[in-house]
Amino acid sequence: MTAPRIEIELGKIQHNTRHIVTQLRPHGIDVTGVTKAVCGHPAVARAILDGGATGLAEARIANVARLLGGGMTCPIAMIRSPMMSQAEQVSGQCVTSYNTEMDIILCLAAAARRSGKVHGVVLMVEMGDCREGIMPADLMAFARDVLATTGVSLKGIGANFACLRGSVPNAVTMARFSALATEIEGATGCTLETVSGGNSANLPWAITSRKESRVNDLRLGEAILLGVDPVSGIHIDGLHTDAFTLIAEVIESKLKTDPGPCPVADPARHGLRLVQDNDRLPRSILAIGQQDTDVSGLEMPEGAAFVGATSDHLVVRALDSGMRVGCEVKFHMNYGALMRAMSAPDVAKVVRHDWPFTSTPSPNHRNQCLETA
Ligand SMILES: *Cc1c(COP(=O)(O)O)cnc(C)c1O
Repeated sequence: MTAPRIEIELGKIQHNTRHIVTQLRPHGIDVTGVTKAVCGHPAVARAILDGGATGLAEARIANVARLLGGGMTCPIAMIRSPMMSQAEQVSGQCVTSYNTEMDIILCLAAAARRSGKVHGVVLMVEMGDCREGIMPADLMAFARDVLATTGVSLKGIGANFACLRGSVPNAVTMARFSALATEIEGATGCTLETVSGGNSANLPWAITSRKESRVNDLRLGEAILLGVDPVSGIHIDGLHTDAFTLIAEVIESKLKTDPGPCPVADPARHGLRLVQDNDRLPRSILAIGQQDTDVSGLEMPEGAAFVGATSDHLVVRALDSGMRVGCEVKFHMNYGALMRAMSAPDVAKVVRHDWPFTSTPSPNHRNQCLETA
C-alpha cells in the first residue's frame, strides 16, 4: 500500500465523540466538532456527526469548502475571525462566524444583505488566553453595535483557552464568562442562542460544571481526534488515542560506523542534532520528513530511538534489526504532527470504515514494525 500514509479509524472517532457527547449532555452542553486538524476531511466530519456532534467548526474557508464538497449539510461555523478579504465566502458558506472586529462584521453584514441572508455572529471574548477576543469591558457596547446592524444577527458569545498563553479555564473564569451572557441579555433584551465555553481544554471543567452555567456549547477537536487533554497531554479515560496512525517505509537499514574526524557544519546554524554514534547500533532511514509532518510530535516505536530528521528523511536507531528495507513502521502522532501530516499532499489518507466500533479503548498504543510492504 502507498506510503507514507495516515490510516484513519472512523469508528474510534465516532466512539470518542459519542462518549464526550454523552458526558456533556446532562450539563446542557452540545458538542461542535472542530475539523481543522484534519483539514475538513469529510469522512472524519461524518464520523463526528454520527457520534452526536450538533455541528462543525473550521478555521479556514478552504476546509469549509472541503466539508461542503463532501456533502455536509449541518451548520458550519468559522471559528477563526474571518479575513475581511473573505467576508463574501464566509457569509456564503458558514451560517455563523466568530468575530472580534466591527469592521469585519460590517463586511459580513454587507455580503449577507447582498444575497438576502442574515449571517450569525458570535462574539469572542478575551478571558485570559490573550489570543482573539473582545475585552469584557467593551463587550456590551460591541453587542449593541451588532444588534443595530442589518444583515447580521447576534447569535452568542464565545471564549477560548489554553492556546496562546496557556490560560487554563477554571470555575471562577467560567462563571465570569457565563455572567457576561446574562448581562448582555438583561441589558439588550436579546436572547443568546450560543454560549460557547471553549475547546478541549474546557472538558475537565465542563463535566463538573453546574446547572447555573450558561455555557451550552464546546468546540472540540483534539479530545475527539486524539483522546487527550491538551493541557496535561494525558489520555482521557474512555477515549481512543489511536484513531490516526502514520505509516512510513524503511529505505535504508545499516550499521554506521564513525567515519573518523571530518569537518562538520555549524550545528546551531543548520539545526543539526548531534548524535552519539559510537554504539554500533543499526540505523534505519524512513521515507518521511519535516515536509510531511512535525517530526518532533511522533512517538518512536518500541525499541527505536529518534536520531534526526531532514525534509525528506527520518533517521532512527533500532535496538533490534526489525526495521528492514521495505518494512513499514507505525507512529503515533500528537496534534501538531497530525495537523501537518493531514495537510501534506504526499501523505495519503486511508480511511477505515470500521464502525460500529465496539471494542473498549486501550491506553496502550505502542507502535510496532509491520510486515514487509
Ligand atoms: C482550534 C480551536 C478549537 C478546538 O480546539 P481543540 O483544542 O482542538 O479542541 C476551538 N476553538 C477555537 C477558536 C479554535 O481555534
